[in-house]
Amino acid sequence: MTTRIALIAHDHKKDDIVKLSGEYVDTLRRCDIVATGTTGGRISETHGLKVERMLSGPHGGDLQIGAQLAEGRVDMVIFLRDPMTPQPHEPDINALVRACDVHNIPCATNISTARMILDVLTMRLTQQV
Ligand code: PGA
Repeated sequence: MTTRIALIAHDHKKDDIVKLSGEYVDTLRRCDIVATGTTGGRISETHGLKVERMLSGPHGGDLQIGAQLAEGRVDMVIFLRDPMTPQPHEPDINALVRACDVHNIPCATNISTARMILDVLTMRLTQQV
């Protein structure tokens, strides 16, 4: 079954997630990608990846992804949060991270952990070939 991965980044982290997606573009091409609106737009424009875009985070995109996750439709989450800037949708952010913990879904909130998740995903996909 195709891995479904959620990609989200706050504004100061968007360049980071675009760069990270570029490094793992071959792996991501083999996944179903769901993303919040602006993050998804940046990733699909830059790398030509097919991305299912939800609403922008502050407009409910995190909650939409959290709802999919609760229904078992998201296998892993990369959520590059900005720990230095207050976010108007902090409750939604916490809800998504909590949903990951409730449902035992891997959730990377910084680049180092994101690389570990993507490395494991790359290995799994390679072994399946
Ligand atoms: P965005 O949402 O990708 O639409 O900017 C991310 C967020 O702020 O949670």
